[in-house]
Amino acid sequence: MIERILAPLHALLAPPIPTCLACGKRMTKAAQGYPEICRACVAQIPWIIRPRCAVCGRSIGCPDCTRPGVAASRHFACNRSAVAYDPLMREWLAQYKYRGREAFTPIFQRMMGQAYKRMASELSGPPHAVSPWHIDAVTYVPLSPSRLRERGFNQAELLAIGAAAAAKAPLIDILERTRDTQKQSSKTRRERLSDMKSAFQLQPHAADVFQQILSRRRTLSKKNEIKILLIDDVYTTGSTLNYCSLALLQACTDLGISAQMYSLTWARS
Ligand SMILES: [Zn+2]
Ligand SMILES: [Zn+2]
Repeated sequence: MIERILAPLHALLAPPIPTCLACGKRMTKAAQGYPEICRACVAQIPWIIRPRCAVCGRSIGCPDCTRPGVAASRHFACNRSAVAYDPLMREWLAQYKYRGREAFTPIFQRMMGQAYKRMASELSGPPHAVSPWHIDAVTYVPLSPSRLRERGFNQAELLAIGAAAAAKAPLIDILERTRDTQKQSSKTRRERLSDMKSAFQLQPHAADVFQQILSRRRTLSKKNEIKILLIDDVYTTGSTLNYCSLALLQACTDLGISAQMYSLTWARS
């Protein structure tokens, strides 16, 4: 009798078998560094370990970056991405952005941290380099206020938190989007690009932020140039990152600060 009463209680109190956040299967053993997802899912993450294109960080051969005139109109030094944007990563990001799976946040942030460390070690060159590459501040591609209200969070900002933690650099909220640039299929490529160029601007407090970065920088080195890392979820054509970089560089130039832009995205399509 007492057994019949207690059995359901025991079942309730027993630790539940965790399920993989990504595939939903029961997990017997979690993957190292990613306790929320199963080993099979972690094994399928298409990390970009050695980018084939040194400019945009693509994992496959890249004709885009060598086209004449492209280098001159690029405003960031280079991009690196954590993973290739394959169907699985597309699914994860869709769950995260559009289906409210915010539980993915810490996973993506750890992935960004890992990608940042890989980027820093690649750009620093051989171990114990005289001046290892590091970033002075991390920022992110903004959403328009209406898009932000609709989604409730800016995925680029959440990703940037992971990168900034790994970089031990301040995360600065400095760019703003004056309008949406995505729903413009009726426009020509040229119109879209010129539209996008004016879609990003610096927030009013930008000058103060740059001065703070610079004063922090001076304590580290005499060199008067700051390196800013820009974060977004997916690098597709690179034009969003390019125009955000341009806005940041122009603001720095206006303030007499020399700056260099780098970008890091979660995925490279
Ligand atoms: Zn799984
Ligand atoms: Zn490229």
